[in-house]
Amino acid sequence: MRDGAAAQRYAAAPRAQRALHRGAPVPPRLTVLSGPSGVGKGTVAERLRAECPWIWQSVSVTTRAPRPGEINGRDYFFTTGDQFRQMVAEGELLEWAENYGNWYGTQRSPVQQRLAQGEPVLLEIDVKGARQVRATVPDALLIFLAPPSWAELERRLRARGTESAEVIQRRLDAARTELAAEREFDITLVNTSVEDVCSQLVRLMIAQQAPAR
Ligand code: 5GP
Repeated sequence: MRDGAAAQRYAAAPRAQRALHRGAPVPPRLTVLSGPSGVGKGTVAERLRAECPWIWQSVSVTTRAPRPGEINGRDYFFTTGDQFRQMVAEGELLEWAENYGNWYGTQRSPVQQRLAQGEPVLLEIDVKGARQVRATVPDALLIFLAPPSWAELERRLRARGTESAEVIQRRLDAARTELAAEREFDITLVNTSVEDVCSQLVRLMIAQQAPAR
């Protein structure tokens, strides 16, 4: 049975999307949105939260300090290294990875609950995490968000303005390696515009649940 919040999210979904989703013969698959640091995964996910609240997005746990404007429980669950290690030890995380000295992870049980309730679930995580999901949830749909060009990715990483030059350099180095992971994914979307990527993403998430013709 769906809970009240889930029912409300459904009510907010466009009718055609609800109809397709209801007709699904199989439970929804887990969808992973990944790609290099700075490509705009967060912006796409934020837009999707506003436009498609019926798609449930996992809120990651991180040991990173909040950036200005970030809210605990909305952007991340901000936690300590000790608490994070405990979650790993107790098997609470579906996947986890270290990025630039901080740890990030996805809590397993909320994801499982939402999928069991028949709700589409999206994870916005890095490439290392996506690989772990591939290994543990083989039927997950892995989507790679690619920048229109390397120059554009570099511009976006430098324009962020919230990190030191050293961190930016580390992110650029990591991004080169992450770009090479594209071939491990099921589908690539090029981030030319947030609107286009969002609508393609929604189509993919619905298509994977539509009855076979
Ligand atoms: P940021 O510090 O910029 O918010 O995130 C840094 C990187 O960590 C991004 O590439 C982001 O996608 C990734 N990330 C965020 N949450 C998770 C998570 O739960 N697991 C993994 N593996 N990566 C995450």
